[in-house]
Amino acid sequence: MPITTDVVIIGAGPAGLFQVFELGLLDIKAHVVDSLPQVGGQCAKLYPDKPIYDIPALPIVGAQELVDRLFKQIKPFDAQFHLSQTVTELKQCEDGRFLLVTSAGTEFDTAAVIIAAGLGAFQPRKLRTAGADEWEGTHIHYSVQNPGRLAGKNIVILGGGDSALDWALELNERVEKMTLVHRRAEYRAQAASVNKMKKLAEAGSLQEFHGMIREILVENGKFRGVKIADSEGKMHELEADEVFVFWGLSPNLGPVADWGLDIDKRQIPVDTEQFQTSVPGIFAVGDINTYPGKKKLILSGFHEAALTAFAVQKLLHPEKKIHLQYTTTSPIMHKRLGVD
Ligand code: FAD
Repeated sequence: MPITTDVVIIGAGPAGLFQVFELGLLDIKAHVVDSLPQVGGQCAKLYPDKPIYDIPALPIVGAQELVDRLFKQIKPFDAQFHLSQTVTELKQCEDGRFLLVTSAGTEFDTAAVIIAAGLGAFQPRKLRTAGADEWEGTHIHYSVQNPGRLAGKNIVILGGGDSALDWALELNERVEKMTLVHRRAEYRAQAASVNKMKKLAEAGSLQEFHGMIREILVENGKFRGVKIADSEGKMHELEADEVFVFWGLSPNLGPVADWGLDIDKRQIPVDTEQFQTSVPGIFAVGDINTYPGKKKLILSGFHEAALTAFAVQKLLHPEKKIHLQYTTTSPIMHKRLGVD
């Protein structure tokens, strides 16, 4: 049975999070879906430790700190988060409501949709080596599911960032043999993880290899491993039962482009009164939208979220007269915020 709701927000970046707040002030509850396992969008995924200097009234704030503050601010509104799942389908039903389906099979029946999808869903950077797609899910993986099943296996991990190193350390004791392949000697992962990995390499329980993958090795139709070129171009065959690729995540507009909305240069055109898309009832805020003068700033997403909340209220309750109320003085707002 689909979850029936008034609003689904696609994307839990700063715009999606602040959208929860602005809807909440108007007493509208929301469900939020994000492909990532954590909230915060680009701030949390791409530059959590960097300071931001252009958030009003916060002369300096770390990107992750901003996300944490936003999350705290929306707490009174009890939004339901559905993380680690991508909205793959969005279609309008005959009664005018919308049906959304996620990659995890969650379905929503909703009156309004707010797309706060930023640059798109973050997807793992994939191997482009010939044949890689064919072995995806059986011998080539971009995440680790059920680590217990790897006992006694010979695995290769590709990557030099935190995910690659974290999984190398986590799986090292479970597997029979492990090779970590990174294209150069310097790692992007935290120094403490790199030091631990080096110790394992010295102790012989992990092979460290610098090079680039060139080929998938297949023999008699069976997966055999990968061929790697070292820095001098010399080829090495690495036998493996399974290969795990952790080359980071990159945003991909992906399914958003398939929902029948007008799209202009990978962005969704909206009006600047309601931030509504070409389909009434579907709104777009934050980096994903475009209009004359649009600037892809967190600040813009906040403003857009405020006006979109009023537009959604009008859509849900066309009969209601909307009065602007200040959070400072309105008892209704205080009640909604839980600050009575
Ligand atoms: P995003 O932060 O991109 O979040 C979108 C979310 O939607 C993502 O989490 C994604 O996983 C999710 N999503 C997308 N598609 C789907 C789907 N189909 N299903 C489920 N989930 C989906 N801005 C400033 O104002 N000041 C700065 O100083 C600043 N510095 C920056 C520094 C760097 C290095 C970068 C990369 C950006 C910087 N920005 C800055 C830009 C700022 O981060 C963006 O404007 C902001 O993150 C946009 O927020 P958003 O919520 O619209 O989108």
